[in-house]
Amino acid sequence: MARISDILAAGRTYSFEFFPPKNEAGWLSLGRTISELEHLAPDFVSVTYGAGGSTRTRTADLVSWVRRQTAITPMAHLTCQGHTRADIRDILMTYRAEGVENILALGGDPPAHGAPAPPSDYHFSLELVADIAEFGGFSVGVAAHPELHPRSPDRATDRQHLATKLEAADFAITQFFFDIEHYLSMVEDLAALGTTKPVLPGIMPISNLGQVTRMAHMSGAEVPPWVVQAMGKAGDNLDEAERIGVDLATELCAKLLDAGAPGLHFYALNRSWAIRQIYRNLGLHPSP
Ligand code: FAD
Repeated sequence: MARISDILAAGRTYSFEFFPPKNEAGWLSLGRTISELEHLAPDFVSVTYGAGGSTRTRTADLVSWVRRQTAITPMAHLTCQGHTRADIRDILMTYRAEGVENILALGGDPPAHGAPAPPSDYHFSLELVADIAEFGGFSVGVAAHPELHPRSPDRATDRQHLATKLEAADFAITQFFFDIEHYLSMVEDLAALGTTKPVLPGIMPISNLGQVTRMAHMSGAEVPPWVVQAMGKAGDNLDEAERIGVDLATELCAKLLDAGAPGLHFYALNRSWAIRQIYRNLGLHPSP
């Protein structure tokens, strides 16, 4: 069973997200991370896609490697940005030939350093979802922003566009958040709009507050004062910071599981330690 829609229908899922490394050392390190996390038997792992297709080959290489060399189901991220409809068809044909069955269809992050967005045949991810559905054979996920997408003019418009694309897809994965209320109220808003498809909460175990604050700023998420205060207790002690980040993430995961979330999707940042500790804290799986 390798389609995420089927896996979700069978019960709660646990999944991890990786990014394709830039160099040999990064590949070696990620190989170790994946073999450590494979012991936790994740339901799937997903692989990010660089702005404007900048990691096109590396994303496909990593997705294919996971598919061939591990027992884990992979999902490839794919963006509107930088792609014509013909590009998308080529990419989907490659994935189909590789036996990859899951795609996360995204608008795409803007290129770094204020560079202009590359041209695209697509305006919004909903159009990409429709093309993937027409191509056929893939289970399709979409992105959700519990604290609203930064380009959304207001809450009602954000939720309506999210509900429409989620209805066309199989499931959503959220941007990371630290306050469970953001997730719960988004799920409630979607239900009020008639959408009850699974929305997997994205969990970011913090190890570096500065890095996470920058990422949060870009995606319209908030790092609440109580998180800043807790992380501040670590001072310059990086191990302590990572330990506090694990405690905060464990608490959030426990609340989400209590609230009936359909799964947990961890932003692994290509490292395994924090996730293994969270699993151990939650009693999800004996940590190796
Ligand atoms: P869209 O669904 O296109 O939405 C973007 C904005 O347009 C929203 O404000 C929405 O409300 C609005 N909108 C939608 N439809 C309409 C319409 N018909 N008319 C007017 N407005 C509309 N980025 C990457 O580059 N690579 C990745 O690998 C990646 N992985 C991600 C994984 C997850 C789980 C998440 C949550 C995000 C990820 N991102 C990634 C970031 C994502 O690409 C950005 O947040 C992007 O800015 C928006 O993506 P989207 O898919 O939500 O876009």
